[in-house]
Parts: sequence; structure tokens; C-alpha cells
Amino acid sequence: MSGTTPAGRCLMAIGLATPFFIVYLGLHHYALMSDAIRPGLRPAVLWVLQGGLALGTLVLLASTAWLWPRRHRSEPVPHVEVMAALSIGLGYVAIAVCAGAFMAGPTQVLMGVLTIGLMLLQRRTMLIAFGVCAPVFALFDVLMVVDVLPYAPAITARAFDAGEPVWWWSLWRHMVFHVGWIVIAFLIFMLFGRLDTVHAELNRLSATDALTGLANRRAFMERLNAEVRRQGRTQRPLSLVLVDADHFKRVNDQHGHPVGDEVLAMLGRLLSLGVRTPVDMAARLGGEEFALLLPDTTLDEAEAVCWRVQQRLAGERLTAPSGEALRITVSMGVVEGLGQVPEHLLRQADHNLYRAKDAGRNRAIYSVLGPTLAEASA
Ligand code: GH3
Ligand code: MG
Ligand code: MG
Repeated sequence: MSGTTPAGRCLMAIGLATPFFIVYLGLHHYALMSDAIRPGLRPAVLWVLQGGLALGTLVLLASTAWLWPRRHRSEPVPHVEVMAALSIGLGYVAIAVCAGAFMAGPTQVLMGVLTIGLMLLQRRTMLIAFGVCAPVFALFDVLMVVDVLPYAPAITARAFDAGEPVWWWSLWRHMVFHVGWIVIAFLIFMLFGRLDTVHAELNRLSATDALTGLANRRAFMERLNAEVRRQGRTQRPLSLVLVDADHFKRVNDQHGHPVGDEVLAMLGRLLSLGVRTPVDMAARLGGEEFALLLPDTTLDEAEAVCWRVQQRLAGERLTAPSGEALRITVSMGVVEGLGQVPEHLLRQADHNLYRAKDAGRNRAIYSVLGPTLAEASA
């Protein structure tokens, strides 16, 4: 999507600002054409502001022509971005000054422009634009206070009829005011929405193993603790399976680490296919060690899960880049527990896994831990 490239985002910022400038230039030009310019108004200053705004609009249109063919490319566009941000910033400062800097609308719009700019453009770009625009805005304000520049020079006699703003000037001012607050409200919604999305994504990443896409050790331990607490209320059995690839070091040594990684990813897929989602959890605890957490599952049912995993693994046809067939097996330590603390369950499963390795690998060793055992070990 073009909006996600630097040129696309820059075009979006220009697209939001330019129509506003063009409408303003039209209105302001019409107001300036009046013979009855308010007494005390300095037309030269007014033309500087008007001319600057027109120049800024031209810069934006020229930038659009330059950016348009580049909207799908990923290269940064730093100079055009700074030029566009400066033109937009100074343009809004000119409008704010012309229409009265202390009118709520223009200052609201300025804050909106700053926030939209921060969302679409680089923070450094906006810092440069803000660094230039803020002193210019303050300078105009001081010039008004010392009476060099009249207050709100855009408000000429043509904009008023018997002391009341004429309809188009009134409409413009209301439009600026409403655009200002709607933009700010919209941005607040967007910012919070974006924060929620980023937060959810960070949570997901912090609980996921990057290689296999399974839950990582941290997420697994959290879930194990939660399931053990739940078991305290339901008194339902809970099974835990520790899975360790056999002689995995040899796979790495003979075929290289990338092949080892592929095998681990395959094991991850196979384990997640072997369990009931979302009730059960398959996790990678680290290295070539995996775990299955099976709530409401007896040892017999866990045995069926392990058997299925072994069968599927035996049916996998893996070939190394050398063309050699890869035979992968796993050993498992399985425990069904009731009323156990998580550490005790893990220790027993690990013990069973060790026994499976000791007994020749490619097998599972099972045991049940009852409440009496837990009390005995306490
Ligand atoms: P055993 O049957 O006794 O479990 O033998 P093993 O070789 O599987 O066990 P050992 O603990 O000696 O070696 C585990 C190997 O797993 C060592 C390490 O290089 C490899 N390993 C750990 N994490 C990764 C990984 O993310 N990618 C790859 N490719 N290899 C890994
Ligand atoms: Mg191993
Ligand atoms: Mg190991």
C-alpha cells in the first residue's frame, strides 16, 4: 500500500493540508480585493502572508508531482519531507496569524497538524518544522502586541456587514473550529487504537517462540501455574508431557544449524497439530525441548496424544540438502498430577524423560502423581 511508504505518507500529509490552503487562499483573496480595507491594516504585511501561503501551496503541489511516481517505493524522501512539513507548518501559522492567533480554531488546527505530522512523517522532520514554525508564530504574536502588525489582518471590512461577520466568513470560522476539534478527537481515538494494537502485538511476541511460533517458556509457565490453580477448584486431572529430540546435536553437526532449525520448526508444527486447541498448549521450552500441557486429561488420554505424535513423526519424510534421509525421534516424560505444585510436576516429567533417554530413547515413560504423594513430598 502506498500509504506505508515514506513518499506515500508524505503525499497523505500534503493531501490533507492542500485543500484547506486552497479554500483559504480563495476566501482571503476575495476579502483582500475590497476597497474598504480596515483602517490601520498594513497591506504589505498582508501580501507577505498571502504570498508566502501561495508559495507554500505551490511547493506542496510541486512535491506532489515529484512524490507521485515514487509512492510505491520504499526509499526515504528526507528533503521533500522536510520541505513539505515546513510549507504545511508555515501555511497554518500564516492562516492562524491572518485569522487572529488567539482564535481557538487555528490553534486547534495547528495542534492537529503537529499530531498528524508526527503520525505520518519522521519525528526528526517534524522537529525541524516545529523548530522553525514555533518561533515564527511567536514572532508574529509579538509584532501584533507591539502594534507593528494588526491583529487578525485577514478580517477585512468585506468580511463584515454592519458589524456582523458575513455568511462565508462565519462559515469559514466555524469550519476551522469544527475541523480542529474533530481532527484532535479523531487523532486521540487513532492513537489509543494504535497503542492497543501495539500492546497486543508486544504481548503476543513476548509469549511466542520465534522459530516455531509455539508458546515460549514464559507463556508456558504462566499457563501451567494458572491450570494448577484451576485444578485446585475443579479437582480434574492434568497431564504434562516433556518432549526432547533425540541426538539432536548430531543433526546440527552432520547437516548444519539451518537444517536443525527446520527440524525444530517441523517438530513445533507436529506438536501443535497433535493437541486440542485452545484447551491444550504446545510450547518450546528452549533448544530442542518442548512441552505439552493437557488440562482435564488423564494419563491414558495423554498416552494417546504421545502415541499420535510418535506416529506422525515416524511418518515424516525429511531429506537433508545432501539428499540423505533424516530420521528424527523424540523421547518423552509424561506425568498426570492432581494437587501438585507446578515445580513438582515438572521435576517428575523431567525425571521420566531422563529415564526414557536412559532406556534407549524414542519412547515415553509415564507416571501418575496423586495428592498423597504431594503431601508426602511436602
Ligand atoms: P539427547 O538425545 O540426549 O537429547 O541428545 P541431544 O544431542 O539432543 O542433546 P544435547 O543437549 O546434547 O544437544 C542439544 C543440541 O540442540 C545442542 C544444540 O546445538 C542444539 N540446539 C539447541 N537449540 C537449537 C536451535 O535453536 N537450533 C538448532 N539448529 N539447534 C539447537
Ligand atoms: Mg535432545
Ligand atoms: Mg535437551
